[in-house]
Amino acid sequence: MQKKILLSKVFRQSLEQHANEQSPHEACAILLGTLNDNTWETTDIFLTENIDKSEVNFTISNEQLIEGYTMAEDKGLDVVGIFHSHPNSQPSPSNTDTKFMRGNPVPWIIYSGITKEMKAYLLDSDLIQIPIE
Ligand SMILES: [Zn+2]
Repeated sequence: MQKKILLSKVFRQSLEQHANEQSPHEACAILLGTLNDNTWETTDIFLTENIDKSEVNFTISNEQLIEGYTMAEDKGLDVVGIFHSHPNSQPSPSNTDTKFMRGNPVPWIIYSGITKEMKAYLLDSDLIQIPIE
């Protein structure tokens, strides 16, 4: 079965809004949900703060990471994705993103402030783009 991530229109809109509000800094969020048959289904989103306050990087604080994972555990969910925005570049992973994707093998969703597109990537052995439905 083809790998994909399910992200409702409502969630996409709030992620987009979060990205626009944080612009020109990168915005970030943790997606929670379930994984079945290569499909990551998003059922909750946790908007986080980019403590780097950077236009080209993002870092989620340890406190918020723990909060996200605790929230997932309390609801019986998994972390199904990491979201961040690229205010001034294409929605594709930077070298730094690819490096961190190795340690976080869930779909990475990137929103571009330029193209207004949202794309999802997964790093298995190779970097692949997966559909967002
Ligand atoms: Zn990035």
